[in-house]
Amino acid sequence: MRDTLVLNASFEPLSTVTLNRAVVLVLQDKAVVEQSHPELRMRGAAVDIPAPRVIRLCRYVRVPFRRQAPWSRRGVLVRDRHRCAYCGRRATTVDHVVPRAQGGQDSWLNTVASCAEDNHRKANRTPEQAGMPLLRQPFEPTPADAMLLSLGADDFQALPDWLAVDAA
Ligand SMILES: [Zn+2]
Repeated sequence: MRDTLVLNASFEPLSTVTLNRAVVLVLQDKAVVEQSHPELRMRGAAVDIPAPRVIRLCRYVRVPFRRQAPWSRRGVLVRDRHRCAYCGRRATTVDHVVPRAQGGQDSWLNTVASCAEDNHRKANRTPEQAGMPLLRQPFEPTPADAMLLSLGADDFQALPDWLAVDAA
């Protein structure tokens, strides 16, 4: 999938996002298309628009210029695409890898998205103590994630799967 360049409202380049995310930002009126791929269109049930090559945010955002996005529960769910780090199913809660009861911090590297069931089962134990290995390691959010977070575009499950890219 091609990526789309995202410009801040002030026209400074910020980041790239996937074509699908770019279209969603445009459809949600969070961004406008500055440049499209001349030969590509995004087609869906109710949409047929040129595939954006460059979009510009309607609102100025500062977050991508920070060295580190501020930690938040919502941010962890966005970073992990709402997938449980223990079983891969839909996650609605945030788990501390090293539990707070054992001195674990609210930080990007110590928290993962988790389904409520696994969060409850793991309780105040580390993955090793609970015998629940992580499917992936927690990481600092990418600049693209930080930007999407600052835009409030937080639920990627809502991305339309009907969008298809066609040569025009
Ligand atoms: Zn789970």
